[in-house]
Amino acid sequence: MTVIAPFDPWKGPLCTCPPKYSFSAYTGCTHACLYCYISSYIPRPFECRAKRRLIERLLRELRKVNPDLHISIANSSDPYPPVEAKLELTRRALRELLSRGYKVQLITKSDLVVRDLDLIRSGNCSVSITVTTLDEKLANKLEPLAPSPKRRIKALETLVRGGVPCSARLDPIIPGINDEGVEKLVKSIAKAGVSHVVSSTYKAKVDSFERLVKAYPKLRERLYELYWSKGVRIGRSRLLPRKVRYNLLKYVKELVEENGMTFATCREGFPSLQSGETCDGSHLIPNRRAQPRLTLF
Ligand code: SF4
Repeated sequence: MTVIAPFDPWKGPLCTCPPKYSFSAYTGCTHACLYCYISSYIPRPFECRAKRRLIERLLRELRKVNPDLHISIANSSDPYPPVEAKLELTRRALRELLSRGYKVQLITKSDLVVRDLDLIRSGNCSVSITVTTLDEKLANKLEPLAPSPKRRIKALETLVRGGVPCSARLDPIIPGINDEGVEKLVKSIAKAGVSHVVSSTYKAKVDSFERLVKAYPKLRERLYELYWSKGVRIGRSRLLPRKVRYNLLKYVKELVEENGMTFATCREGFPSLQSGETCDGSHLIPNRRAQPRLTLF
């Protein structure tokens, strides 16, 4: 198994991301979000395991990495689970990558990312923090072991103040669960200094859907109707009906742009809603250091 690989091995039909790599220091993620998709392909998904000989493998695999493409950290786990405070695996990997001039985008739900501000602002690195609601009670139910929304917004503020270009992921939006507080959330993200927002609707898989409706039994019927009776199947997921998704995301786009930020959707099939240069926010990665050349390794 490699530690660094081309992003999107399944070539999702709706993905508009630029070509990039994906890197994770950990397998599994202790945040245990109800909607998480990794439980459909990672055994023991909510147990976080550090990858063995991580830095040695990373340095070896970098020989094959195209230095023009950026490295996204991480897509199937959070790079800052609680154990990272002690192990510092993401920090060590980040140091190796940024000191060599690689372009990196960190994607996290944890304010532990602020610990690495010294490294982040010294290299070609931007940060994207996912915030799905400002409602602490709701977040606690939806993302039980992730840091609170308040801490995530504070982390965005600190990073922006420290000179780091930041985007936010308002992702996923789940009808009847977190679609109501979007306006307040967008305002708070804008106030933190974020310049780009990526949003998408919940994409149901059988296991994540079961977790959700077990936690919200009163919504079972409505969500079943929306996703299974009226929704569409795309790849391995069930999505809301196209019109419902379009209207919801258009509403978010308008709020985001009214608040001075650019907008994009993630795997929705609506490129016309995109106002940012990229969907994933990777256009924010600064060019502070010369790019590495393959011959260096
Ligand atoms: S933070 Fe991401 S990878 Fe971790 S449990 Fe939540 S959705 Fe899954």
